[in-house]
Amino acid sequence: MTFRELSEYFHRIEQTTSRLEMAEILRSLLEKASVEEVDKVVYLTLGELLPAFRGIEFGISEKLLMESLSKACGVRLSQVQTLYKQKGDLGDTAEELIGWQGRNLSLVRVYEELFDIARTRGTLDKVMKLINLLKGLSGFEAKYAVRIIIGRLRLGVGDATIIDAMAGGIRELKPYIERAYNLCSDLGLVAKRLKEGGLEAIKEFKIQLGYPIRMALAERVSSAQEIIQRLGRCGVEAKYDGFRLQVHKDSDKVEIYSRNLERMTEMFPDVVKAVMEDVKVQKVIIEGEALAVNEETGEFYPFQITIQRKRKYSIEEYARDYPLKLFAFDLLYLEEEDYTVKPYIERRKTLEELLSQTNTLRPSEMFITQEAKDIETFFEDVITRGLEGIMAKRLDAPYTAGSRNFNWIKLKRSYRGSLADTVDVVVVGYYYGKGARARLGIGGLLVAVYEPSTDTFKTVSKVGSGFTESEWVRLREMLDVIKLSHKHPRVDSLIEVDVWVEPRYVITVNADEITRSPLHTAGRTLEEPGYALRFPRAVSFIREDKNPEDANTVEEIIRLYQLQKSVSVE
Ligand code: AMP
Repeated sequence: MTFRELSEYFHRIEQTTSRLEMAEILRSLLEKASVEEVDKVVYLTLGELLPAFRGIEFGISEKLLMESLSKACGVRLSQVQTLYKQKGDLGDTAEELIGWQGRNLSLVRVYEELFDIARTRGTLDKVMKLINLLKGLSGFEAKYAVRIIIGRLRLGVGDATIIDAMAGGIRELKPYIERAYNLCSDLGLVAKRLKEGGLEAIKEFKIQLGYPIRMALAERVSSAQEIIQRLGRCGVEAKYDGFRLQVHKDSDKVEIYSRNLERMTEMFPDVVKAVMEDVKVQKVIIEGEALAVNEETGEFYPFQITIQRKRKYSIEEYARDYPLKLFAFDLLYLEEEDYTVKPYIERRKTLEELLSQTNTLRPSEMFITQEAKDIETFFEDVITRGLEGIMAKRLDAPYTAGSRNFNWIKLKRSYRGSLADTVDVVVVGYYYGKGARARLGIGGLLVAVYEPSTDTFKTVSKVGSGFTESEWVRLREMLDVIKLSHKHPRVDSLIEVDVWVEPRYVITVNADEITRSPLHTAGRTLEEPGYALRFPRAVSFIREDKNPEDANTVEEIIRLYQLQKSVSVE
């Protein structure tokens, strides 16, 4: 396949506003790709070179890209800048500037050159290689290459759409593809295996160290009684409000992944060291919650302090001032053996045998009970210690990678006059704002929840409070980078906004209650109105640890609505 053919597919995907049509175009694209090409096609379609957990970045700023364009095309930098201002998109700018036909390079060749650019360290070398690549591409091809390089391909294709396209309408295939994806988080790898070995290869797909397993998630309830009703005798753990880590140890190498599967190894040198020294097995994957602890008082610091590590310049210093503890709560893999299929109680037992109580690494607090009373007492205890609540776990359940279900149930502290829990929503657009806010150029957000069955985002509220002025300004800047000329194909909305954006950023909001509303599409059917958050206020800035698909789902909003009804009846 040539890069031009791939670009033509991208163009068609870009033109469509129908998700069904998008899936159909993708299906024919994947069908056409060879074994050698198919993984690269998947990555490039997602606007990447490798899955995000490989942490490959181009390291090319807009400015550097404009400089390269000016050199490649022999025009002045100011001319490139003016054109960019007019077009608002560097891909379109490149398309307009490039007058040559290119060398009709193959897809693999362009991929390799892109890869080489990303891997090259020196800026000068990078630019030389980029100029060389641009000279081999037509304007039409360069449009997409440039967008990939600056991380703004924005085809709006999500993982679920690619999985559907891979299954190509064969029902039997889809659950196996999903399982393989859940075990390795690498859609390119799954596509390649499928092409090479068909269904059999996908059925035999195994966990591999260095490929993060997509994390299991919890459902929520509003009382200890409901936990016992659902699970009977169960494991009850403290719920720590920190940073979820999946730690892979492969002899003398340790890798750490975040909840949204970014590689975070460098951010946690203290955890790497503790795992190397204290976990005395060769190959293992454990999961836990990392938390900064005040050594003086033994108290946990709030999540905001723990996450600051990500932004702080000197991680070593930070690790010294805010030492972390990792409360391990699951074991997914041990010495070549897949533990995700084993019952929780067995995983937990082996986990406890593996970890002695060290300063940095220890198993989460846990006990087994069938009495709601015991859960309540423990709940009160953890709350007074400044923890978030508890997690109850079904004793005989496997680790269900990549899915949220009642094998794990959370019970969190609730606040009077508000919902039993906060809600994670995705920003899909914003309003310029009126009055004092107009000055900031942003006054409110339109937010949505996720609908996994259609891989779309359904609106649930407008959010206009909870941010400081400077946060609003930062938000607008971040949203302007991902603004769109029309509603994103995966967003379902009856409401208009001033600016549509790509559904990328998650924020956490609190609300007084959930009401039925004809204006919103979350949970809306032909006969019934949707659901909406009443008096929502943001309680976090953008949640960098969450992907849009990690937002709460429509089903969860409906459950929260029902919970709130049952509570008010009592
Ligand atoms: P939430 O983010 O509110 O949906 O709660 C689920 C999160 O709680 C998980 O993703 C973990 O990061 C975190 N967590 C804290 N303690 C535990 C625990 N003992 N077991 C499982 N997850 C936990």
